[in-house]
Amino acid sequence: MNYDLLLVGAGLFSATIAHEAVKKGKKVLVIEKRDHIAGNIYTENVKGINFHKYGAHIFHTDNKEVWDYVNSFAEFNRYTNCPVANFKGILYNLPFNMNTFTKIWDDVITPQDAKKRISEQASEMAGITPKNLEEQAISLVGRDIYERLIKGYTEKQWGRSCTELPASIIKRLPVRLTFDNNYFNDRYQGIPIGGYTQIIEKMFEGCDVQLNTDFFDDKEKWLNMADKVVYTGTIDKFFDYSEGELEYRSLRFETENLDVENFQGNAVINYTEREIPYTRIIEHKHFEPESSAISKPFTIITKEYPATWKQGDEPYYAVNDEKNSALYAKYKALADKQDKVIFGGRLGMYKYFDMDDTIIAAWDLAKSII
Ligand code: FAD
Ligand code: UDP
Repeated sequence: MNYDLLLVGAGLFSATIAHEAVKKGKKVLVIEKRDHIAGNIYTENVKGINFHKYGAHIFHTDNKEVWDYVNSFAEFNRYTNCPVANFKGILYNLPFNMNTFTKIWDDVITPQDAKKRISEQASEMAGITPKNLEEQAISLVGRDIYERLIKGYTEKQWGRSCTELPASIIKRLPVRLTFDNNYFNDRYQGIPIGGYTQIIEKMFEGCDVQLNTDFFDDKEKWLNMADKVVYTGTIDKFFDYSEGELEYRSLRFETENLDVENFQGNAVINYTEREIPYTRIIEHKHFEPESSAISKPFTIITKEYPATWKQGDEPYYAVNDEKNSALYAKYKALADKQDKVIFGGRLGMYKYFDMDDTIIAAWDLAKSII
């Protein structure tokens, strides 16, 4: 037994545990199957542009302690996420706000007009407690917006009909009667100047990190390497899928280098119609508008295609519907019986964690095990 702690996976969850453990004098080993640290928040500098390899990552939180923590590893810029939706060639502001309402409905000018129009449209749901995403969306913003900006995007993203999806997914998006295109309601928001990878590098200082190393290539050996193991891979795989496979959504990223200075004028444009197979195009240079990369005569864009997950693919999103939540509960019961291995992070806990949730969950775990 060489280490106090083995961390399987080198993402943000492990990095937070590692940082707390090293502060307390623990000897920590990290193994990661990819050829780099940082998990899905990995960014790399490509010709001066910080490239978000696994999709757009915008840090936002209401928690001051979390904000101060991440700012202790890197300086953040004042980026505010204002994605735009493209539906059949017409552009609408997101999240749903007065800019969206006045564009969708010609005769809506004031917040009172918008409120009236939404409640007229939502009246088709009168007396119904929303049971699924479609009903929830129509009661929030009405059918016009649902059909143009929600239905196609959501069905592509999740690979199933909005009537089969939980209402909770759409509750994440703000609806505002002001001309405010900020996608998040949180008090703090930004992108680390120079990207996320530097943060994770600093968090792993003092640990031994071994890349290109899959835990499952020698499970017994790794389990015997440390007193405690924190495992941040998929929980069903750890148990050899003994209770059945959990479902995940995967993504395919298609990146292009273009010889244009400014391709789309915004970091994120969502394509909300069903017929276009990708959900969004990211133009990476716009995440750091203060950087000199912004005026370079080239740009990098990434199209994000949702995909059905199968074993061997990257599992990006847990599917937290009833069926999968029940299956996860079975794995959680098996996990609770392990005294040496603890399951953490988005994949180990089968949860939709934003980065701030990930840090908070890791702090909680660090308190109990270190
Ligand atoms: P991960 O980053 O997935 O790290 C797990 C690591 O474990 C991976 O590196 C993996 O390779 C490794 N691993 C798995 N199995 C093994 C094994 N058998 N052996 C060795 N290593 C293994 N959050 C926000 O706050 N804002 C955003 O804008 C945002 N955008 C997102 C966009 C996308 C497309 C996705 C997928 C997520 C987004 N998130 C966002 C969430 C954010 O990515 C997560 O909160 C965070 O990355 C979770 O960290 P983690 O350590 O739990 O998981
Ligand atoms: N959504 C939508 N239209 C959009 C953007 C989002 O209908 O243009 C819905 C979709 O169901 C998505 C959910 O809102 O899954 C949450 O969006 P968010 O941007 O938070 O998704 P994520 O960052 O997880 O991809």
